[in-house]
Amino acid sequence: MNEPIGTTGLILNEPLLWEKGSPGRMGMSIPASDVPGAEMDSALVGEGPDFPDLGELDVVRHYTRLSTWNFGVDTGMYPLGSCTMKYNPKTNERQAALPGFANAHPLLPPELSQGALKLYCELQQYLAEVTGFPAVSLQPAAGSHGELTGMMIFHAYHQSLGKPRTKVLIPDTAHGTNPASAALCGYKSIPVKSNADGVLDPAEIAAVMDEDTAGIMVTNPNTLGLFEDHIGEVADIVHNKGGLVYGDGANMNAIMGIVNVGCTGVDVLHLNLHKTFSTPHGGGGPGSGPVCVSEQLEKFLPVPRVVEQDGQYTLSHDFPDSIGKIHAFYGNFGILVRAYSYIRSLGADLKKVSQYAVLNANYIKESLKGTFYLPYDRPCMHECVFNDAKQEALKVSTLDIAKRLIDNGVHPPTIYFPLVVPGALMIEPTESECKEDIDRFVDTLKAIAAEAEENPDALHAAPVNTKVKRLDETLAARKPCLRG
Ligand SMILES: *Cc1c(COP(=O)(O)O)cnc(C)c1O
Repeated sequence: MNEPIGTTGLILNEPLLWEKGSPGRMGMSIPASDVPGAEMDSALVGEGPDFPDLGELDVVRHYTRLSTWNFGVDTGMYPLGSCTMKYNPKTNERQAALPGFANAHPLLPPELSQGALKLYCELQQYLAEVTGFPAVSLQPAAGSHGELTGMMIFHAYHQSLGKPRTKVLIPDTAHGTNPASAALCGYKSIPVKSNADGVLDPAEIAAVMDEDTAGIMVTNPNTLGLFEDHIGEVADIVHNKGGLVYGDGANMNAIMGIVNVGCTGVDVLHLNLHKTFSTPHGGGGPGSGPVCVSEQLEKFLPVPRVVEQDGQYTLSHDFPDSIGKIHAFYGNFGILVRAYSYIRSLGADLKKVSQYAVLNANYIKESLKGTFYLPYDRPCMHECVFNDAKQEALKVSTLDIAKRLIDNGVHPPTIYFPLVVPGALMIEPTESECKEDIDRFVDTLKAIAAEAEENPDALHAAPVNTKVKRLDETLAARKPCLRG
């Protein structure tokens, strides 16, 4: 089968140090002692520690290899759908590490942080321009935190009209964080089915939208990788009943510089800077989920806000309708520097990022269409979603396919999400991958599909090349081993 590039890929084989070495081997030579030796009293010191006898190179190789076990986009293609694991150019890391940014203390008074505040203000303007909204807050620390901020703004808006509402419409394709954010804000989620094309049906929305519904949360492009082509109509239906439209913009990587989201009827939109705007993510580190709003909602944005007057930047709390503070200080600043650097270095080419991301996803969709079942066979945006329906008769599942990818040194895509596609394989190549690497990925998946026909047991047993073999995933969830 297709040979993985590099020496390890995901194949993590490394014996314990105790299983290596040989008695008498040494890591360094010490000069012979010129004083007589003395016996140690074993009653006092006990048995000596049982260290293996190793050479310096054994130790260096062991630890260097272990250090490469962290899989990341810098080691290989990372095609997790919905997560946008794209390459983050190193120059953006370098700018964020400049001492003036990295060492700035958040308690510095505005007079001593004019540069940071200027960057903050300019980044807000850039994101406003990319999305088509007049105002932006950089405070939220994650996409889901942006959603919560958005729901708080929904609530503040309806409260300001004297009529708080109780429900929010959530399409069945939504990321799980959407109903969770609505619930955290006290709203009841009303699920809405998507139609046979995988997008929202305005008639379904009209049937459930009422004057007790605060609005709708729409992910566009949605998690099937499809553009919600009735978004304008959906927004009109919601607005006509006095509701608001929340846009989950985590998938902005498909539409940057192409779609003016503000013009599609969305009132509040969050972005995931750690997905689209160059911050390494996936390890649980800090993120950033700025919220962009229409003019009528600007007064509700979190405080403090950065205010510019005659080239001087200050922090203002003077926004009486604000929902308040939602993050310590002003957001995760290091991530904002990366996004600023990313946008400044690409300029108008941001549009090309989206075009390549969409091209790559469609290339994969077309290449694998005959191999895996494609539930929604239409042009996709940044990702495409297959499932295991063609392999069902062979008793081979999406999980088997994903595990076999690991044996081939390839990181699996997102699986079993979105929930509307049973057995989903959700692939997002991003713009970063070149044709050769995408072809290798496609060939590997095709070889696995062929193997499923010839030798399905090989897939049921996968992964076999890894240190840790097939895990009992239910047990892992029910009885987590928290001690390592
Ligand atoms: C990633 C994602 C989120 C959540 O973002 P976090 O930063 O992980 O909280 C929300 N919606 C969609 C569609 C996403 O892909």
